[in-house]
Amino acid sequence: MPTVLGIIVAGGSSQRAGQDKLKVVLPTGRTVLEESLSKMSSCDLIDDIAVVTRAEKMEYVNTLREKYPKLRYIAPGGYTRFGSVTNGIAASPEHDYICIHDAARPFVSTDLIRAVIEKGFEYGAAAPCVPVRDTIKITEGEFMQSTPDRNTLRAVQTPQVFRTDDYMTALALSDDAFDDCQVMERAGYRVFCVSGEETNIKITTAEDIRRLREKDMRVGHGYDVHRLAEGRKLILCGVDIPFEKGLLGHSDADVAVHALMDAILGAAGLPDIGHLFPDNDPEYDGADSCVLLGRVMALVREKGYELGNADVTIVCQKPKISPYIEAMRTKLAEVCGCAAGRVNVKATTEEKLGFTGSGEGIAAHAVVLMA
Ligand code: MG
Repeated sequence: MPTVLGIIVAGGSSQRAGQDKLKVVLPTGRTVLEESLSKMSSCDLIDDIAVVTRAEKMEYVNTLREKYPKLRYIAPGGYTRFGSVTNGIAASPEHDYICIHDAARPFVSTDLIRAVIEKGFEYGAAAPCVPVRDTIKITEGEFMQSTPDRNTLRAVQTPQVFRTDDYMTALALSDDAFDDCQVMERAGYRVFCVSGEETNIKITTAEDIRRLREKDMRVGHGYDVHRLAEGRKLILCGVDIPFEKGLLGHSDADVAVHALMDAILGAAGLPDIGHLFPDNDPEYDGADSCVLLGRVMALVREKGYELGNADVTIVCQKPKISPYIEAMRTKLAEVCGCAAGRVNVKATTEEKLGFTGSGEGIAAHAVVLMA
């Protein structure tokens, strides 16, 4: 069986993505880079893996060695893609074939990697390709010049597999190509087109990253109850409501905001407000719950989540809540930093049943979607 070196190219500067796209965490809990490494690692035809990356990412890549023992070589990125690939080849003992994969294509399947390597063994060079959907134009300045036959066009993905000696020979003839396949074409090698996968996208722009996040939608639920007592202000969703009683609690006892905070924290997989703002801490004595909600939003933003929408239900016999609903929505949206239409507040009674029905207390439920 020929030997294969997997080369993961992680040398880009992520300029078009506006952030380090390779470190974005996917729903699997692995970063984009780790996900690509895990797919390559699972392919039985790959013997060793070299990751080619920038100096500032080497330490991170090094931490992945333990989990992925095939990752034996870490090499510095070159000035060009071809420089990076050659550094990867140079860092490891000679293998019969190289299997070059973009770190920014984490959704590749191990089946596809295997299929490309098998065709590489058969033809010396192979890469996955998909038909193009848009009609492609050759342009000159700002005008269209001609239209190639779409049926002959293919978009090329990675992994791309080449016989190592052939690749090095070809590279000596041309190092200014658009991709590794073009290097081979120019030197007269024929690259076999394996049927690629539509899902094997390359994460390139900030918009691509936003879409990744959208995939990771999280639902959260929160519930809270506070007792009604005399001599307290009644504050619900940050709005002062004139009433003969108010809710009892360590903070301003805004039961609806408490339910909302627990829903948001729950969605993000964080501990509840009892942990974050303990009621034996004097800092939270009489605290404005909307200020705490602002802190909760800052925490979940750090984890990369924004509020998709929230639905808050206040369970209360008296007073009548409906006149305050609009003010409540506006206030919550302002604190959460989203459009008012994304926050809904409604109220219901429990037909004089139970503790809310008898006026002993007020309860609130909240459901949120974080994305
Ligand atoms: Mg509470």
